[in-house]
Amino acid sequence: MIKLTIDGNEVEVEPGTTLLEAARALGTEIPHYCYHQDIGSDGNCRVCLVEVNGNTDKLAISCQQPCGEGMDVQTESESVVKARKGVMEFLLINHPLDCTICDQAGECPLQDYSYHYGSGDSRFVEDKRNKRKKVEFSDKVMFDAERCILCTRCTRYFETVRDSRPIGVENMGGQSTITLGPNGPIEDPYQLNIVDICPVGALTSRDFRFKQRVWFMDFADTVCPGCSKGCNITAGAYQGKLLRFVPRRNPDINKSWMCDDGRMSYENYNISERTRGALIAGEEASFEDAFAKIAELVGGGDGVAVLASTSNTCEELHALKAWAGKAGIAHLWHGSKSWESDDFLKESDATPNTKGAQMLGFEPVPTEAPALRGLVVAGEVEVPPALLANLDFLVLQSPVGGELAPAAMVMLPGLTRVEKQGTWVNSAGMAQVVKPALQPGSGVVDDWQLWRDLGGADGAEWSTLKALTRVCRAQLEGSAETPLVATES
Ligand code: SF4
Ligand code: SF4
Repeated sequence: MIKLTIDGNEVEVEPGTTLLEAARALGTEIPHYCYHQDIGSDGNCRVCLVEVNGNTDKLAISCQQPCGEGMDVQTESESVVKARKGVMEFLLINHPLDCTICDQAGECPLQDYSYHYGSGDSRFVEDKRNKRKKVEFSDKVMFDAERCILCTRCTRYFETVRDSRPIGVENMGGQSTITLGPNGPIEDPYQLNIVDICPVGALTSRDFRFKQRVWFMDFADTVCPGCSKGCNITAGAYQGKLLRFVPRRNPDINKSWMCDDGRMSYENYNISERTRGALIAGEEASFEDAFAKIAELVGGGDGVAVLASTSNTCEELHALKAWAGKAGIAHLWHGSKSWESDDFLKESDATPNTKGAQMLGFEPVPTEAPALRGLVVAGEVEVPPALLANLDFLVLQSPVGGELAPAAMVMLPGLTRVEKQGTWVNSAGMAQVVKPALQPGSGVVDDWQLWRDLGGADGAEWSTLKALTRVCRAQLEGSAETPLVATES
């Protein structure tokens, strides 16, 4: 281990750790552009300069300088502050001052660093350089060469993370620019990650650009509902409508990345028509009447099965299982949904909580299911046609009734995947906190409350979601499946 001091604070790090990373370990953030936690640094932006051992003539770039025993590092000395101001002034010489129309405004490190570390004025009186604008890098990504500060994060992302080179730097000096390679538009299914890591508004998502100013939006730190990988994301919404998913760093699951399919799946959750309130035989009914009808239909539970979606949270499944147990229903099954997986993040299970369902005792629908009298469908799930044959009754609980709605004797509302709150367990057995990005509005009860109330609302051990989460987590941890690695999200 190596010992050094940064701004007077002692820190001990592994050999090879850079000054920038050592400072981070102390909670000291050194400004940087070309460095990115998951792709390393290029040392080209020079904004991370620090003073080492009192050497004010030759400052070190902290993203490349390894820590040395006994080093005395200053991140805010007079020489550092002055040099940083110079770097910021230089970066802004040719950068267009078009923040008012730039999509990055509000979440732009160039804006933020200019404010915190810049000098506030410029000695530049010449005309700014003109470069290409609105360059279509693909059907998903737009490039503005004038805004680019040539940090090369985007090219290094493809090289280091995707092992490809669809874009690169062409020309030299002031004419340098990022350009498409000879194979034409970017086709990589993880290409939108370059928009997130671009520290300025040079790379924008063609889907999101010009849709909304970020300071007007509401954000929820949650988990991608797209597949069982459980990538951590931040969901952004405006006035009850989802506008984007972006990845949120989790070093154990997705680092700083997500797939484009998962990212664009936000569109699926802006539903215009949904089930509100309860229906009995297609007629509006109170929840009390609907619950009474379900109790009458289920009777002693023989010949009845529950088929749950694996997008339900563990809390919802736990409450559902508790009700089913009271109602005498022995068959607890979960559905499945698959899509094409890949060798990076995307998993074939296109639902987020299959592992959680299995740990709680739900089994896959058997290929040869026993003859059923009744079926209770909980959540959005594909129901095998064989299960529907010869049923006396169908209870359907779902945000959207879909094709099954006409066949349902009782219909109950439900939450979409982005309205849920609770726990999902990803394929690796990591329990993650899911937070709602949208509110469902009137006539929709949280699924866990619905199952609790259906069971007679006497679940004293979990009258609140928090209490239910505690009970549920204890059960997950006691399950025979993969040991649970609690990951906060
Ligand atoms: S486009 Fe963005 S990420 Fe790529 S080099 Fe320019 S500023 Fe950096
Ligand atoms: S890999 Fe799965 S969890 Fe991750 S972003 Fe894609 S769909 Fe979402």
